[in-house]
Amino acid sequence: MKYQKGYLDNPTLLKIELMLNGIRVGKKALDKVMVEMAGTDEMVDGIDIVLSHKTKANVPYKEEFARKSSYLLKSRRDGFFITDGEGEVKVEIPPIPNFYKEKTTTGIPFSSIGDVHSGYVVITPSKRCDFFYSDVECRYCTANFDSNGGTESTYSVDEVLETVEAAHSEGKAEIIYLSIGFGKEEDGGIRFLKPYIKAIKKHFNALIAVEALPPIDNIWVDETYAIGADSVIYNLEIFDKELFELICPGRAKLIGRERYIDALRYAATVFPSGTVASHLIVGLEPPGYTIMGIDYLTDIGVIPILPIYRPSPGRTLRVDPLTTEVIAPVYAHLYRTVKKKGINMHWVRDISIVTTPLEGRFLIDGGRGFRSIIRDFYNTKVGLKTAWGLATLRRKLRVKESGESSGSSSS
Ligand code: SF4
Repeated sequence: MKYQKGYLDNPTLLKIELMLNGIRVGKKALDKVMVEMAGTDEMVDGIDIVLSHKTKANVPYKEEFARKSSYLLKSRRDGFFITDGEGEVKVEIPPIPNFYKEKTTTGIPFSSIGDVHSGYVVITPSKRCDFFYSDVECRYCTANFDSNGGTESTYSVDEVLETVEAAHSEGKAEIIYLSIGFGKEEDGGIRFLKPYIKAIKKHFNALIAVEALPPIDNIWVDETYAIGADSVIYNLEIFDKELFELICPGRAKLIGRERYIDALRYAATVFPSGTVASHLIVGLEPPGYTIMGIDYLTDIGVIPILPIYRPSPGRTLRVDPLTTEVIAPVYAHLYRTVKKKGINMHWVRDISIVTTPLEGRFLIDGGRGFRSIIRDFYNTKVGLKTAWGLATLRRKLRVKESGESSGSSSS
């Protein structure tokens, strides 16, 4: 990408830059971080870094592309710093929770069950997804690799409770994210998650977000709320109908885009403002379509969360990543739109692995580093083509599809 000076000063631009390009880690910094990580399963995906204004970013560092990044994490006596070769900015690396080095009474490392990112813990009690290793698996998914082949293993309610207790005792479990892969049950996974939700609610003063599949009937949305979930997330992932069918064939065939939208619309009438959310992956469809998705979802009271797609080894999709100058205006639009429609944006915040609506406030006029060159990008011919270049992307995906069937690796 064309480097814009000033990204170091703006936490949201820097977060996008780091998530797209990764970071090189200096030897001293790596040694310090690794000492902390010893004996844990952490740092599989990236380093959690706290930027200015408490902006949290999970930054790739191991991947090939990260080794070519212009950004370097270095350590000195007075702390950690990120440099772009010209300037530098002080950052924090949050300490690894102590409980990561401990195990459940059944001998499972807590770090295998709970993934802590600042104030929240992600727990996937069952690694199973019925799409794994089939021709309808979501094309970007790596969850089958992350499960280390143990897709049949299920953590018991007690094992999950022990993990939450350990995280809670260190103040790391304000919000528990419970997630589940696809199953053929009509309830979208809520029947399975119910004992976990009820047990956590009974024993801890924690908020619970449930990331599940839209159930066939809305009574399961009511049930999700009734059993104590504070937030529900049904991830549409791709707004454009045709790309959704290409990239998420299983979801398209067995759930359907319309059902995603209906379930989200209904959930927004049941749950409080700002607690019903849906991912739209930035980089798997032209940004203009992500913007249409933002407008549509916010119209029905849903908060869009925009993870950035980064191809990595093992993933089927090899779409070229976008650049910060293309992505930043999408996040600025997200912030403006959520604010204009009066949806509470304080529930979905401070998440290191995605950029949240509230972080877009640093991208509106006056945000340091958000220069007119970025604002005006979409007024250029290249910008317009990037925003709406659906035909090119569609063709690319079709080429990938035929590449897969002729023997290239699948996820
Ligand atoms: S539903 Fe899709 S993204 Fe989720 S675990 Fe299954 S294959 Fe992966």
